[in-house]
Amino acid sequence: MAIKEKVEMTTSEREIMRVVWTLGNATSKDIVDMLEAKKEWKPATAKTFIGRLVKKGFLLAESEGNKYIYSAAISEEDSVRTAAHRLFEQICHKQAGKTIADMLADAPLSHRDIELIQQVLDGKKKHAVDEVACNCVPGQCKCKCSTH
Ligand SMILES: [Zn+2]
Repeated sequence: MAIKEKVEMTTSEREIMRVVWTLGNATSKDIVDMLEAKKEWKPATAKTFIGRLVKKGFLLAESEGNKYIYSAAISEEDSVRTAAHRLFEQICHKQAGKTIADMLADAPLSHRDIELIQQVLDGKKKHAVDEVACNCVPGQCKCKCSTH
């Protein structure tokens, strides 16, 4: 069961999380060193984002001596899934297919990825509808559909 993120993770905060997801456990120095080299972030910048992530509940901080060991409170897979889900909640359901097609067109894909997508599409084909219903508040989209 995926943890539902109640608050959003910013792009900068995700940069921090990716280091923690990769390392498993990390001190602020580990994170600062990594992002200072890669992103040219000042230590204070990284530390500000670490503080925000702890406050938002994405990072767990455990004190060990005079420092903190940080670990992720949410898996990368769940976080990415939640972010994608949130995007699709913000657009008209009628636009979902076109949006996914655009994403597919732009995404770098392996033969294995394409196989996986093909399997999902084959399953979808069995339950496909003639027209997807609009889920919008009237006035928030231009599809003048019967559900309005
Ligand atoms: Zn709509």
